[in-house]
Amino acid sequence: MRCPSFLDALDARRIVGHHLLLTQDAGRAHWRALPECPYGTPMSDLLPLTMAERLIRQAMTPFPVEAVPLEAAYGRVLRQAVHAERALPPYDRVILDGIAVAWRDGQTGWVLSGTQAAGHPPLTLDPGHEAALAVMTGSVLPRGADTVIPREDYRREGDTLILQKGVSPKRGQHIHPMGADCAAGAALLESGLILSPPEMAVLAANGISQPLVSAIPSIAVISTGDELVAPDAPVAPWQIRRSNDYAIAASLARRGLTRQTLLTLPDDLAILTLKLDEALDTHDAVVLSGGVSMGDFDFVPKVLAALGVQRILHKVAQRPGKPFWFGIGKSGQPVFALPGNPVSALACCSRHVVPALLHAQGVTLPPCHVMLAAPLTPIATMTRFVPVRLGHDDQGRTLAYPCPMTTSGDFNRLGATDGLVTLPPGDTPLSAGTGLVFHAW
Ligand code: AMP
Ligand code: MG
Repeated sequence: MRCPSFLDALDARRIVGHHLLLTQDAGRAHWRALPECPYGTPMSDLLPLTMAERLIRQAMTPFPVEAVPLEAAYGRVLRQAVHAERALPPYDRVILDGIAVAWRDGQTGWVLSGTQAAGHPPLTLDPGHEAALAVMTGSVLPRGADTVIPREDYRREGDTLILQKGVSPKRGQHIHPMGADCAAGAALLESGLILSPPEMAVLAANGISQPLVSAIPSIAVISTGDELVAPDAPVAPWQIRRSNDYAIAASLARRGLTRQTLLTLPDDLAILTLKLDEALDTHDAVVLSGGVSMGDFDFVPKVLAALGVQRILHKVAQRPGKPFWFGIGKSGQPVFALPGNPVSALACCSRHVVPALLHAQGVTLPPCHVMLAAPLTPIATMTRFVPVRLGHDDQGRTLAYPCPMTTSGDFNRLGATDGLVTLPPGDTPLSAGTGLVFHAW
């Protein structure tokens, strides 16, 4: 008997092509209420990629916010808006070393009466036009002054300063007026940014010493399979060195998701049940690889179901990575179960796991578009992921050079690639120059 279609279970009015249109009140609870397949077998329909992405996003609970010392905030996801603490610059700022004067057209000499250093309250220029105060880059403009003359534009004779020949200062020059950069309260940073060097400077300059950022989730990265051995263990001819967990861990770490526990489990129902239960209890997210296909020892979906992980989807119309499984644990943790084949596992990680975890951290990144450097043929019924190496053409545009793998187990040549491009399902070959969305590994 055929398992009822996943799509049949939904209100048809919410389905347009391969997309789900969510009604106003359709939230996470709605998705969770979808009927489980009553026959206990995975749903046979392959979910279109766009729908899978939407279901995952809908099911993810945002990770909490925490305040961290500014020194520890680099690379974290900002979860607050930042406004200018005060007008910037906060005073009329001298922008180079020289003298400050009250400018009068035609004047060529001044008498030095003191020094205005950076970080000191403003001095007052003697009245009239004869006096000058030495000023330093970053100091306040002394009261009564309106013009700064750079050091190289005058010479000193005793206490007298004489303008060099050919120099003609303009009133107001070399002063960065108060508020020229922004007014007090101006919006400077938005929530959802990944903090990079310039944003660190903005936080510091505006007195944010404990920025609010997304908490880094603790993630269990679990390999499953009786054939797997560690990189440093003896390997029998019938065994495989495990590599997925290292690739997945690296893919997460480069996005700042560094709180990881790596674990390898055998294809044993009892051990899987015990250890996955522990992992679910102690982690905010779980990323598995292997054991989600149709083999006799592919126990992962069954064990997750027994542990109360609500299946959101299983099997996506994508190649590689068709057996991908995703669900939500009892306390809301996302559980990603990736196929074991290394290319599939890494493709699912960068195409599903990373975007979902970034989304739950509140990250708002625009899609990265690249141009195909060589033709590629899509798959009529499925989304195709193709590993690519990035380069640039002579106009500086980013090109994606396809490096298709012969099989999803053929991962040794992935080393020359930067990520993958997504080819939507279709019949028409894509020519060089086609724009596609790129996801880094
Ligand atoms: P599975 O999805 O468990 O059927 O595994 C598919 C293929 O991926 C098999 O050839 C496995 O040996 C291989 N595989 C599974 N897990 C890993 C891993 N952690 N590292 C490398 N290869 C793996
Ligand atoms: Mg396996």
